[in-house]
Amino acid sequence: MTFQFRCPNSCLLEGEPEQAGQTINCPMCNVLFRIPEPVGAPAAQDAQPTQPAQPTQPTEQAASQPVPEAEPRLLHIPCPNGHELETPEEMLGQEVMCPHCNTQFQLRESDSVEYKRKRDIERERRERKVGNAWFNWAIVCAVLVIIGLIFLIISASGG
Ligand SMILES: [Zn+2]
Ligand SMILES: [Zn+2]
Repeated sequence: MTFQFRCPNSCLLEGEPEQAGQTINCPMCNVLFRIPEPVGAPAAQDAQPTQPAQPTQPTEQAASQPVPEAEPRLLHIPCPNGHELETPEEMLGQEVMCPHCNTQFQLRESDSVEYKRKRDIERERRERKVGNAWFNWAIVCAVLVIIGLIFLIISASGG
């Protein structure tokens, strides 16, 4: 898509948008000048599609949805020595022996990687909510302070 521009001697020329900023000799009068940026043309020079907002990730929804019962859910639970074992959900609460270090320990859901990840997500969500509340309070306080200042100024100038 070409755009039109003029050299310093008013010769009407055409160029590609990517030529903007280049220094050329005018083909008509041979004057050396810099091609201006295309003005007024629809912003076609940067082909980046405008993204209005980031698509909301469905992770929160997925976390709250129950896992289909058809296939057994696998949890990853580390033994006391840190060997991560893949454990079907129905094994929870049972005493097992780590095949790596022969340590006997109880399988607890609260020790599983999945549980901790879920807890982290929930904590993050809560912290974000608390952060928003603080932000809202900060705005309310700022507005109150400004109103107070205006009131003070008005009463000072009035009396
Ligand atoms: Zn010219
Ligand atoms: Zn182990």
